[in-house]
Amino acid sequence: MSLQSIRERIAAAETAAGREPGAVALVAISKVQPLPRVEAVLEDGHRVFGENRVQEAQGKWPAFRERYDGVRLHLVGPLQSNKARAAMELFDVIETLDRPKLARTFARLAQEIGRCPQLFVQVNTGAEDQKAGIAPDEVDGFVAECRGLDLPVQGLMCIPPIDAPPESHFTMLAEMAERNGLSGLSMGMSADFEAAIAHGATHVRVGSALFGERVAS
Ligand SMILES: *Cc1c(COP(=O)(O)O)cnc(C)c1O
Repeated sequence: MSLQSIRERIAAAETAAGREPGAVALVAISKVQPLPRVEAVLEDGHRVFGENRVQEAQGKWPAFRERYDGVRLHLVGPLQSNKARAAMELFDVIETLDRPKLARTFARLAQEIGRCPQLFVQVNTGAEDQKAGIAPDEVDGFVAECRGLDLPVQGLMCIPPIDAPPESHFTMLAEMAERNGLSGLSMGMSADFEAAIAHGATHVRVGSALFGERVAS
């Protein structure tokens, strides 16, 4: 589906939800996509992209950034502590702050580097064993801990369970953000971004609907 069509669907969902036009940012998830597909979206003027692996992003984005001004990169995949510095140097936004140790690492590196990307706390809304993220009942304490470390937490992010309707997860995330005074809500992917917008998403992460099915690597 073209960038134009995705933008139109986002705009229609904003209107339907009584949200301001432009309230929702499209994060184009370009992981594993062939470079010409990514380049086509850059040529169409889009600048906000998401990747789920530091190494893959390092191999692709420095060259694109030389050719296209104003690129903003989001990390949406799990981050090992030993790659935290590289991630902080490459990404503008890290959406997967998911544990206290990583928060302390970011705080220390922010002092050394002199800057810190914007951060989203990943919440494991479905309390799934295999999924990263802060448990729902630990979110308030964790956000407070991050603030105590002076980390720039902008919002919350979730990846709902694949086998369940996402709406209750979107609602839960929106309530947690509200009571913690956080304005950012990263939720909604190709299959459900309109529902996420209805529930207050400020960032939707759309991959396959925009670029086509991911080619197995
Ligand atoms: C891959 C990925 C997406 C995009 O998924 P699509 O269903 O292709 O839109 C969104 N968020 C995260 C965290 C991802 O890893």
